[in-house]
Amino acid sequence: MTVFEQMAHYDYGELHLARDAATGMQAIVAVHDTRLGPALGGCRFIPYPSPSEAIIDALRLARGMTYKAAISGIPHGGGKAVIMRPAHEFDRTALFRAFGRFVENLGGLYYTAEDSGTGLEDMEVIRSVTKYVTGVKGRSGDPSPWTALGVRRGIEALVQSVLQRSDLEGLTVAVQGVGHVGYHLCKELHALGAKLIVADIDPLKAERAQRELAAEIVPLDAIYGVDCDVFAPCALGSALNDETIPRLRCRIVAGAANNQLAEPRHGDDLFQRGIVYGPDYAINAGGLASVAAEVDPRGYDAERVRVQVMAIYETIHEIATRAAEASQPTYRVADMIAEERLSAGK
Ligand code: NAD
Repeated sequence: MTVFEQMAHYDYGELHLARDAATGMQAIVAVHDTRLGPALGGCRFIPYPSPSEAIIDALRLARGMTYKAAISGIPHGGGKAVIMRPAHEFDRTALFRAFGRFVENLGGLYYTAEDSGTGLEDMEVIRSVTKYVTGVKGRSGDPSPWTALGVRRGIEALVQSVLQRSDLEGLTVAVQGVGHVGYHLCKELHALGAKLIVADIDPLKAERAQRELAAEIVPLDAIYGVDCDVFAPCALGSALNDETIPRLRCRIVAGAANNQLAEPRHGDDLFQRGIVYGPDYAINAGGLASVAAEVDPRGYDAERVRVQVMAIYETIHEIATRAAEASQPTYRVADMIAEERLSAGK
């Protein structure tokens, strides 16, 4: 596919490319939609086999950000940056400074933030040349507890909608991955009386959940088949696929991981099995709410972020209710609601 065909495929928009000979920086900023506000999305810094694959990654990820912001009432559009990690030695500071200049030259069309392969130090370097960066030191801080709070609220909404229960006391939640978000989610759920079953590739992380939160540890592959009320994927993408879905023994799937459905049809598969899925981008938007608040002209206000993240309950409840009424899978209803909000410009 040509670049323009790729852009048409992902329904674009604008695609910006920059190359800096001095540092070897080759970067892409994809701006999917700015109807609700300037584009906001993380900056990836990983190796890519070819520029074409880097472009596809940026296009795909930025589009997801549009939907995430729109469904959550966050006044931003979808954007994403991808810097192709050079194969040869490079000066990291100089490279991120060059990237910062690229972002600055876009004049506020796109705000950048951390993502795979980038960290706080890189954001500091970017900040030295542009103000269009969020998630920097000493401001909104780690977004993971906010993401976890939002996922907990989404779980509560689905428990209400599917199990007709207004509390989590005694319910069992299987959490795949107890890293930044998964661990905070376990803390939230434990405090509300839920029983936890966890699996993590890193035994120390699973043991921490066992020690502090009375979680039961199961082997990595066993987490899909445990008897539970809620399965919460909080590790990697594509956890819901042809191989894993038939093994699930839960009524609800609701977790933090991005791109949980290997393909959209897996959302249909869950629906046909009577498992209600909390669409990933709607349930995991708590961290985005926090980083977006950092560039709010009114200044960062943790209480305002809290109100917004708590409201993920209402968003997920609306998705589940409309899906049940229309006999439709939740992932499709979530897309519809996001598109309605985009067209309405609010
Ligand atoms: P993290 O790297 O801190 O945690 C992931 C955990 O999963 C780690 O503990 C890792 O050891 C574990 N893991 C990896 N492979 C596994 C496997 N096969 N089985 C079980 N455990 C495995 O990352 P995070 O920040 O907690 O994010 C988790 C997911 O949520 C990611 O998909 C991320 O994109 C998504 N997400 C995170 C945020 C945020 O605020 N951090 C926001 C939105 C979405």
